[in-house]
Amino acid sequence: MLLIKNGRVLDPSSRTDAALDVLIDGERIAKLGANLNAPDAEIFNAKGLIVGPGFIDLHCHLREPGQEVSETIETGTRAAARGGFTAVCCMPNTQPVNDRASVTRGIMERAAAVGSTRVWPIGAASTGSKGEALAEIAAMKDAGIVAVSDDGKPIATARLMRQVMDYCRDLDLPVIDHCEDSSLAAGGVMREGARSIRLGLQGIPSQSESICVGRDVEIGALTGARLHVAHMSTMKSLEYVRAAKKSGLRVTCEVTPHHFTLTDEDVRYDTSYKMNPPLASREDRDELIKGLADGSVDAIATDHAPHQPATKDVEFDRAPFGITGFETAFALGLNELVHTGRMSLMRLVELFTTGPGRVLGIERKLAPGEPADITIFSTDLAWTFRASESASKSRNTPFDGRSFKGGPMATIVAGRIVFRR
Ligand SMILES: [Zn+2]
Ligand SMILES: [Zn+2]
Repeated sequence: MLLIKNGRVLDPSSRTDAALDVLIDGERIAKLGANLNAPDAEIFNAKGLIVGPGFIDLHCHLREPGQEVSETIETGTRAAARGGFTAVCCMPNTQPVNDRASVTRGIMERAAAVGSTRVWPIGAASTGSKGEALAEIAAMKDAGIVAVSDDGKPIATARLMRQVMDYCRDLDLPVIDHCEDSSLAAGGVMREGARSIRLGLQGIPSQSESICVGRDVEIGALTGARLHVAHMSTMKSLEYVRAAKKSGLRVTCEVTPHHFTLTDEDVRYDTSYKMNPPLASREDRDELIKGLADGSVDAIATDHAPHQPATKDVEFDRAPFGITGFETAFALGLNELVHTGRMSLMRLVELFTTGPGRVLGIERKLAPGEPADITIFSTDLAWTFRASESASKSRNTPFDGRSFKGGPMATIVAGRIVFRR
């Protein structure tokens, strides 16, 4: 048994914010209450700390199978645990692509053997994510996928999206889309605007994203399926999502920490600033923050995308898109969103817990009988993130050397402490 004492329990699912102890028995929460005692239990003193439900990341790339030189399920989930995550959803663009049950099972087995956190795979929408034929979605659902996506790319055509959505509506699986009009984005490496002109880099217009969000919302209305917009970065996309929600469609969306922290004005000739979608304008960023605060955005997701140094240490044009994100995500939320007064601590915790849980249809709360997935964090600890000390195999982050106030202190998965600062 494990007894978390003297902490402040914050649970968005019940709006609880109170000084409570939490007793864990085996893999589940046994009891919550003031001044609990359990003579045989191991004690975790959470004095001065916040005790919340375990964080869920809806969007990451663990690179296994196939690109273990950049990340593995073992190193990726260790980094995730350091970021406070108790469950992570991994995108299917591995080698081979997770487009069939045998690959899904392989990921689940590997995660059970070496994973620090739970791993909830996302299956490909189309075979090989090539945008042609439907993948084995039903068989993958039986094997454990929680959603489908061709992330890395958009679901290629409106016709395919309709087929995927028809299928996923009946299976009650969310369809996650990397929204991008590939013809409009082709060749671009950063957001199109004054900054891309000044740097002499080819731009991607913001419409590349929002056109695809508009398409997907329309097909969501046609089919009645659940649509989740990945890594949303523009105000126009948010407008589509807000309108869709207002009209009762089952549309949700996520925003990454880098998109609420940085803008295209921050981009320099450093491939740690190259990601897809690219960093957006200041107006977009400010509107995304409003959406995060007012409930229009459902979740913060990392899009943790490790790339080994050999592939990122090249010219900007030639580098792959993506940055790592597990270990800085929550601290960026605290520093950019809560300490600045843009949202309450309760709302931030919701964006990391019950928000992403609802997107998947998975409930997460601190209550007796529930799985003991718990994240304990500080709101005032001063610390500096060093990429060289990261648990990830990769170092591609624009946040190396950044100082924070507050961050994860311990991560508990199924009653087991998998990370402790
Ligand atoms: Zn993507
Ligand atoms: Zn991604």
